Amino acid sequence: MAGCAFDPKRAIVYARRCRRSCGRMPIAPTAGQESSVPAPFVTTGPDGRTLQPGGQVYRPPSEAESLLLQVSVGCSHNRCSYCAMYSEKRFALRPEAEVMALIDAYAEGPPPPSRRVFLCDGDALILPQPKLLAILQRIRQRLPWVQRVSSYGDCRSILRKTATELKELAALGYGLVYHGVETGDDLAMAAIVKGANRAQVIEAADRLRDAGIGHSVIVLLGIGGVEGSERHARETASLLTRIDPQWVGALTVTPVPGTPLWQAQQNGEFALPDAWQTLEELRTLVAEAQFSACRFSSNHASNYLPLRADLPRDRELMLRVIDRALAERNPASLRPSWARGL
Ligand code: SF4
Repeated sequence: MAGCAFDPKRAIVYARRCRRSCGRMPIAPTAGQESSVPAPFVTTGPDGRTLQPGGQVYRPPSEAESLLLQVSVGCSHNRCSYCAMYSEKRFALRPEAEVMALIDAYAEGPPPPSRRVFLCDGDALILPQPKLLAILQRIRQRLPWVQRVSSYGDCRSILRKTATELKELAALGYGLVYHGVETGDDLAMAAIVKGANRAQVIEAADRLRDAGIGHSVIVLLGIGGVEGSERHARETASLLTRIDPQWVGALTVTPVPGTPLWQAQQNGEFALPDAWQTLEELRTLVAEAQFSACRFSSNHASNYLPLRADLPRDRELMLRVIDRALAERNPASLRPSWARGL
C-alpha cells in the first residue's frame, strides 16, 4: 500500500494530493464548439505545451505528465448510458498529415517528465492499423525519448486488432490500454449499452496479454443499481480474477444530467446505491478478486473511501479499513459530497 496506511482520513489526503487512478479526468474547458461538428484543431493547449483541439479532452490521471496527441475526436461508440464525455463531439479520425505535423512540432520542444505519450480521444485504438503503425513509427523517429505510448480502448477496438497486429503495435512502443470494463455482469453490461459482453472482455484481455500490452481496467461501483448491486460486485470480482489485470481503478458511478442513466434515475427505473452499499461492493471486489499482482485504486474523486493498494499483498489491511467504515457508518469517515466529483 502506498503512503496512506489505510487510515481513511489520511487516505483522503493522499488521494487528493495524488489523484492517480484509472479514472478519466478532463484537462481542458469546453470551448463552445458546435454540437455534431468536429472541434476545430488548435496548436497549443492550456498549459502552453500540449497540442490539442478545442473542446474537452480527457486522459487518465496517471497520464498527467504525458504528451497528449489527439489522433481522433470523440468516441466511435458514444452510447454508454452513463457517459457524457464525448456527447458534443462527432467521432472523426484526425487527418494523418495533421497528426504527423503535431509529432514534428512536439519534437521541437522538451520531453515531458514522464517520457510518455497518450493518444486521445476516447478510443484511439480504433484507428485503422496502417494509420496507427504510421503514427507510432513517426513517434519513434521524431520523439526517440518516448518510453511508452498508451490510449483508451474497449472491446470493440481491441478485438478489431488481430493478435499479430497488437504485437506490431507493442513492438513500436504501444504499451498500455485503459479499458472501461465497468462490470463483469452481462445483465448490467447490456443495460448500460457497453457494446460488449463478459466473454469479449476476457478475449480482449487475453489478446492484450499475449501481445505484451498492459491492461488498466476501470470498473464502476454502483452501476448495477440497488437491485443488481451484489450480482454486479460478485460478477465483476470473478471477471477481474479471470483477466488478472495489472491495474484496476474502481470509480463510483455518478449519473450525469442528460445521459440515459440520469433519465432512468429520474423515471425511477434506476436506483443508485448509497455510499454504504457502494462500499459493500468495493469490499466484495477486494475480498473476492484474486490477482497475481495488481495496483488497485479507489482514490478517484468520485469515490467515498479513497484507497490505493497492491493486491494481493495488502488485502487484509484494505479489508480492515473498509470493514471499519462499514461498521461505524460515520459519514465523517467518507469523502464529503462537496469534494466528490466525476
Ligand atoms: S466507450 Fe467509453 S468514451 Fe465511449 S461512450 Fe462508452 S464510456 Fe464513453
